[in-house]
Amino acid sequence: MSELRACKVCRRITTELTCPYCGGETSTEWHGYVYILNSEMSQIAKEMGAENGEYALRVR
Ligand SMILES: [Zn+2]
Repeated sequence: MSELRACKVCRRITTELTCPYCGGETSTEWHGYVYILNSEMSQIAKEMGAENGEYALRVR
């Protein structure tokens, strides 16, 4: 089983050591899974400046 990681830069959820979206470093130390389905309708997405996808609320 591969461990889920989160990007320290853009907070995308990934299993890669390097973020496939922005190339940033990823970490297993993250909390708060968020799945953004419709970024234009989501207040959380607006606050995060996020596009549709899987995100962590907090990454260490
Ligand atoms: Zn990233």
